[in-house]
Amino acid sequence: MSFDPALLKQFVYINGAWTGADSGQVIEVTNPATDAVIGTVPNCGRAETARAIEAAHIAMADWKKLTAEARGDLMHKLCDAILAELDDLAALLTSEMGKPLAEAKGEIVLGVKYIRFFAEEAKRVYGDIIPSPWADRRILVTKEPVGVVGAITPWNFPNSMIARKLGAALAAGCTIVIKPSEFTPYSALAFAIMAEKAGLPAGVINILTGDAPQIGAEMCENPALRKITFTGSTRVGKLLAEQAGKHMKKVSMELGGNAPFIVFDDADLDKAVAGAIGSKFRNSGQTCVCANRIYVQAGVYDAFAEKFKAAIEEQLKPGNGLDAGVTQGPLINAAALAKVEAHVEDAKGKGARILTGGTRVGNAGTFYAPTLAINATPDMRVAQEETFGPFAALFRFETEDEAVARANDTEYGLACYFYTRDLGRTFRVMERLEYGLVGINEGVITTEVAPFGGVKDSGLGNEGSKYGLDDYLNIKYACVGGLGV
Ligand code: NAD
Repeated sequence: MSFDPALLKQFVYINGAWTGADSGQVIEVTNPATDAVIGTVPNCGRAETARAIEAAHIAMADWKKLTAEARGDLMHKLCDAILAELDDLAALLTSEMGKPLAEAKGEIVLGVKYIRFFAEEAKRVYGDIIPSPWADRRILVTKEPVGVVGAITPWNFPNSMIARKLGAALAAGCTIVIKPSEFTPYSALAFAIMAEKAGLPAGVINILTGDAPQIGAEMCENPALRKITFTGSTRVGKLLAEQAGKHMKKVSMELGGNAPFIVFDDADLDKAVAGAIGSKFRNSGQTCVCANRIYVQAGVYDAFAEKFKAAIEEQLKPGNGLDAGVTQGPLINAAALAKVEAHVEDAKGKGARILTGGTRVGNAGTFYAPTLAINATPDMRVAQEETFGPFAALFRFETEDEAVARANDTEYGLACYFYTRDLGRTFRVMERLEYGLVGINEGVITTEVAPFGGVKDSGLGNEGSKYGLDDYLNIKYACVGGLGV
């Protein structure tokens, strides 16, 4: 390890300096695989947030003046610094969040891909020249950074949720104040160490931990901050959108989901099972785009259930993510575990039959066995709420119309999936599903080059791709007159 992990456990990073909370108070951080407290972080509030915003505001004056290429060079250096510490950063991520080491590495590499993508994409932020209705005037459209960005992020992807916001913001010419989840602050604070190694100017990236409502309120109300980008629950997203709306701040909201995963009679069942394993159980089922309701057409219901059960039992091994061979880590905390248990018990009580799993694993940590149930029905909690855990419930359907209607019967609209080999159905169903992301014959589709965003209660705006960069840019129209033509 060539960075000092002790820094992460005492300080936050404001204006290029490591500092504690004004109050001296701290928050404990726990390893969900062992229940052990692995350290603390400062419990900051509004005053520290205001200082971070001021630092970001001052730093932005120079940062936005750099060429896209110069900003991109520094961002690539940040990525080089991250990759040089990949093993240690992955171990840190696993120790605070629980996911298996291989998944942690994959997440950090994905984060790097986001940052590198935006570093290059910013070189292609073009304006327009619009044909003018006036002979002596010209109409120009340019794009400018929105201003200081406040980013509030969740625990389920402690690195990549930050990387894709930070990458877009910095590339666009914005500076950023980041508040990570209190459950996974170390992966966030590690960005500050890497930023120092890369030579990023003070104030461009600021990262602080602490009282979420206080920090959120300061971000929403402080006039020097112009955009809030949030990833997390729909409940908190709505709260922040309301607060930010009062101060006319731009918002991007990546919120919860309740993804349907539809298997039609004509699907390649092996491919569908492989997709369901990835989509449902990756990250222990704690992914906003996780398959939550698995709809299987009557003709293949039993065959799919049997193959899915076999794959779960063969491929998924719960345990401490640092141990070799483990493919499923713990849930993030006791509340998350209790929610999964409640969804399984509720389903059982309403007639579902458990084919595999259905119990906690071990006494220490927050592990739950990968679980498969058949005979799920719409009145069950798993049909209506995001379980956010390793519980797959199979619903039976008869017709395409029924599958689409049931898939759309939710207030959420983030990701959905379906499996078919029928070309006509591919387009019909894709167009009728009310979702921001559609996986067709694929269960894991996230990439930095494609847009990622939900509709309905799943959010506003996009991350990744050129559309994600647009969310960090304002449009300016300039009318140049007096040309004497
Ligand atoms: P959460 O909403 O509880 O917390 C997210 C962040 O908001 C954390 O940093 C938290 O400290 C902060 N926060 C909580 N209350 C706040 C307040 N009053 N003001 C300001 N900030 C506040 O969500 P979580 O449990 O960390 O994450 C899981 C949720 O995130 C799930 O619903 C999941 O679907 C969603 N998610 C969505 C995406 C996406 O891209 N759409 C990605 C990952 C996770």
